[in-house]
Amino acid sequence: MKLSVGLTGGIGSGKSTVAERFERLGASLVDADEISRALTAPGGAAMPALRAAFGRGLVAADGALDRRAMRELAFTDPGARARLEAILHPLVRAESDRARAGAGGHYVMMIVPLLFETGGQARVDRTLVVDAPEETQVERVVRRSALAPEEVRQVMAAQWPRWRRLQAADDVVFNGGSEGELDAQCERLHARYAELARERA
Ligand code: ATP
Repeated sequence: MKLSVGLTGGIGSGKSTVAERFERLGASLVDADEISRALTAPGGAAMPALRAAFGRGLVAADGALDRRAMRELAFTDPGARARLEAILHPLVRAESDRARAGAGGHYVMMIVPLLFETGGQARVDRTLVVDAPEETQVERVVRRSALAPEEVRQVMAAQWPRWRRLQAADDVVFNGGSEGELDAQCERLHARYAELARERA
């Protein structure tokens, strides 16, 4: 199987921004969030099970998962969160494995926001953490979305803290500065991944 790198990082750390650079350099991307959104879109494969488990309260008018209602439920009811994850995570994993098996490119980069939190590091060959100061994460997400700073901090509190992610990482890209500072870091890591992939082929 092709070399796989698990790309992770806290909310707003810059995972998508970094992943795009690796894609340009020749990596294939598999994005767990994108897969999760497809599974929970109108008519998505996860919707019948979610409707059966949670009723219409979590389903928006168009038949998609109501993401805001889901986030609220997940933060107020740990049991509901566990049931939600028990439905969604195996489907996301199966779909990610399928995408990974069919991917071209030198190697596959799997973008998984909760990689460590869900034990996903066991399913990839290496882990790459996108790191940024916590205040920078909050600023970026507030600028980009309709979330308030407290809501961003609530999401961050449900994720591994920065120090723990850094401790667990095989590789790190620091994204606390300008986007221009990413290029050299990504190029260096890409060269290493391409070499590891060649050795393995
Ligand atoms: P999420 O976990 O919420 O999906 P993410 O980790 O994928 O986020 P991005 O979407 O890549 O993060 O970045 C979050 C926001 O911050 C985006 O609007 C992006 O354009 C911006 N951003 C990322 N890196 C930088 C940077 N170095 N300088 C300025 N803005 C940045």
